[in-house]
Amino acid sequence: MIINKSEIAGLLDNLVKEYRVYAPVEKDGSIVFEAIEEGARAKLGTTSKKPAKEILFPQSEELFSYQVDSEGLRMEDKIDDTKSIAFGVRPCDAKSMMLLDNVFHNDLYEDVYYTTRRKNTIIVSVGCSEPESTCFCSSVNSGPFDTDGSDVMLTDLGEAYLAEAVTEQGKEFLLKLNLKEAGEEDKARAEEIKSRAQAGSEVDITGLKEKLDGMFDHPYWDKLHEKCLGCAACTYLCPTCHCFDIADEARDCNGCRVRNWDSCMFPLFTLHGSGHNPRTSGKERWRQRVMHKFNYFVERYNATACVGCGRCIKNCPVNMDIRQVLAEIKAQDTGSEVS
Ligand code: SF4
Ligand code: SF4
Repeated sequence: MIINKSEIAGLLDNLVKEYRVYAPVEKDGSIVFEAIEEGARAKLGTTSKKPAKEILFPQSEELFSYQVDSEGLRMEDKIDDTKSIAFGVRPCDAKSMMLLDNVFHNDLYEDVYYTTRRKNTIIVSVGCSEPESTCFCSSVNSGPFDTDGSDVMLTDLGEAYLAEAVTEQGKEFLLKLNLKEAGEEDKARAEEIKSRAQAGSEVDITGLKEKLDGMFDHPYWDKLHEKCLGCAACTYLCPTCHCFDIADEARDCNGCRVRNWDSCMFPLFTLHGSGHNPRTSGKERWRQRVMHKFNYFVERYNATACVGCGRCIKNCPVNMDIRQVLAEIKAQDTGSEVS
């Protein structure tokens, strides 16, 4: 199917009547995902500063509210089942949602706040024809046109997008839009664009998980963290990071329970009620960040918890670069070498 760019704003205006439509928009000088009322606000083809994960896992969300009165305790759940579309997601962000699925819905546990949004959200991605220099998606089992996690993939042909369904849900969605069929020429052009698209950089992570198996007590961690400010920008802006904290906000007999993003880069994250903190310095926190993404997550879910989006590289105020860290780890001597 073909969507002319001149028709995108009108198409989104129509979708807004039926769905909550999230799209990348400009806000305070940055690109972020927001629910839009007007299609003209959408800035397709841009990579948001904050990842699209917040559509399914908001930075701050009310889980339920409660009230105690003469009739007892009354509670109201805040599960959000609004039919939604995330329009203009980057493939790395769509892939990250598949990784988050493992965490929020597994054999032991289902987070209904997340899974309800997930079931009710159609993901329309825009492939990256010109990835940024900080992108390394191709090195972490993905790529600029990876369809994992997307229902529909759009390829930028210049004046128009080629829209291809990835899932049954995506197929039904496209059929509803009554779009023009794509010609053979359009399809061939899209294939050429896809084959030319290269992630801006590469990192060889072969054997990394096994290397990290033997590195928990390695002296490499002693120095790595020294320039880190502990600001947590790297984790807040990471599409796969999913740590959160729960807080009760109450006044008199009314209140609500709220879930907020948290970060393993903060000292308070692991501070026990007793005052003991098992991660006393940046050393333990940086080690945890790397180990979780490239060792523990691989062990649990057979995938790295990194989609190579480059956001942590672009936004670290002291220029810490995860690509360099991974290369350095691979070069460390652990006494049990892997190729
Ligand atoms: S670790 Fe960095 S590059 Fe990897 S997914 Fe997170 S923000 Fe993106
Ligand atoms: S963004 Fe940089 S300075 Fe901030 S916590 Fe992450 S590594 Fe440290």
